[in-house]
Amino acid sequence: MKSYDMIVIGSGSGALNIGVFMVRAGFQVLMIEKNEANIGGDCLNSGCVPSKALIHISREVAAARRSQEYGVKVSGKVNFAKVRKYIESKQEEIRVHENKEYFESLGFDVVIGEAEFAGKHEVRIGEDIYKAKKILVAIGGRPRKLQIPGIDKLEYGKTYLDNETVFQMNELPKELVVIGGGPIGLEIGQALQRLGSQVTVVQREDTFLPKEHPDVTPILKERLEAEGMQFMMGYSPKKVLTDHALEVVDAKGKKQTLSFDGMLVAIGRELNTMRGLDLAGVEVDEQGRMRVDEYLQTSNPDILVAGDSAGGFQFTHAAELHAQVILKNLFSPFKKKLSWDSFGWVTFTDPEIATFGRSEVTLNNQGIDFQLLEIDLEDEDRELIDENHGKLRLYVSGKKILGGTMIGSGAGELVQELLLSVSAGLTTDAIFGKVYPYPTAARINKKAIQKLYAGKLSERNKSILKFLFRFFG
Ligand SMILES: Cc1cc2nc3c(=O)[nH]c(=O)nc-3n(C[C@H](O)[C@H](O)[C@H](O)COP(=O)(O)OP(=O)(O)OC[C@H]3O[C@@H](n4cnc5c(N)ncnc54)[C@H](O)[C@@H]3O)c2cc1C
Repeated sequence: MKSYDMIVIGSGSGALNIGVFMVRAGFQVLMIEKNEANIGGDCLNSGCVPSKALIHISREVAAARRSQEYGVKVSGKVNFAKVRKYIESKQEEIRVHENKEYFESLGFDVVIGEAEFAGKHEVRIGEDIYKAKKILVAIGGRPRKLQIPGIDKLEYGKTYLDNETVFQMNELPKELVVIGGGPIGLEIGQALQRLGSQVTVVQREDTFLPKEHPDVTPILKERLEAEGMQFMMGYSPKKVLTDHALEVVDAKGKKQTLSFDGMLVAIGRELNTMRGLDLAGVEVDEQGRMRVDEYLQTSNPDILVAGDSAGGFQFTHAAELHAQVILKNLFSPFKKKLSWDSFGWVTFTDPEIATFGRSEVTLNNQGIDFQLLEIDLEDEDRELIDENHGKLRLYVSGKKILGGTMIGSGAGELVQELLLSVSAGLTTDAIFGKVYPYPTAARINKKAIQKLYAGKLSERNKSILKFLFRFFG
């Protein structure tokens, strides 16, 4: 039995952030990955990387089409096989530093096989048992399957698509039905609409993107509709009638039939599980998921959890936050708890929605007094010139930015300094005092903050200024 300082199970974002640090710091680390082709996890193979490569192309195509307004002629159909090639080429470029040999060259031992627990500090792969002081479980999840009558009429990877197959299509479906109005369904749906599919999103609720503020999602919906996407809000898939027809139904029982060549199922993710959790002393909840505390420990304090497996937000950078907590606690007697207070995320539709810090609901629940600063992006010259319609909402208490959300093109980049203000505890003075090159789009951040200071110029302050001006001006 070989012994290690740490075993990391999985090779996605959850495992890599922590594993790579441990190896670089000189610890003996074993990485176990179920399938060599999965190295890099969902993000590289079927998540962030291929979806953002697809979005990149779709934005170029959309911009080319828009340029027709100025007399440029754009014609022809998108060759999806070429799109797929581009996506794969970007994955390959990243795979250069996310593969078995590369990790071995860093100092990992890497074993390919499905890990299961054999004891409190032991993991088994087939006949072999490995032991470690600490074991990190980062086994991610998989797309939830749609289970409705007739679903077996669809061919997986052809007419039934999910994030594990949609990037491998050779042809664009003429009519694509997207089940689910979450970030995955909307990002991929908009990209494929722009490339030439007719996309219809079926969403059970009357709104989409439930984690986003209800003031910003209608702006996105309007934009997506303007590009030709259709929405069946308040409808659920009921029955697959044929391999090209889906029956959907609303809450009152009203039925409609949608035709499609492809159905993209994006109805959420299911967490992977491991065998032998009982042998490891890891408690599970009613659904069989590991119970994970705010230190990212299981009921066995030597078994830690990171990435999607930890529950909570499922993002590549959530795994980075997990790594900050776990690594701090491995080397310090002062234990750090997981906090989402300065966490942010981006939905990469166009316009993007970027949300960060604490939400209005959280602040209200916490009884925190805050001021809402709201501004239309077009109040700043650059956004007006670029026709970047959208808005910024900021939640400020005293001089602290506590959170906010922005919808607009490039919102994910534009909010970065606001997110830094939240995470580093900077005051609004940092933004107010900054001189922004004109005309940069990020000036909108200062413009929003200026509202706070303008409000502060009370009649009393104005009288003081007049008094000072008289003597010193
Ligand atoms: C379409 C899509 C787009 C996304 N876009 C973004 C984005 O833009 N930004 C963002 O931050 N996040 C995005 N995400 C989310 C992001 O991909 C995940 O949060 C992240 O990949 C999770 O990493 P992980 O390490 O927890 O799990 P994974 O990356 O899933 O890795 C888990 C690994 O564990 C392996 N494994 C499972 N069981 C075992 C076992 N028993 N033994 C050994 N190995 C095992 C699996 O094979 C897998 O390789 C997206 C996700 C999807 C699906």
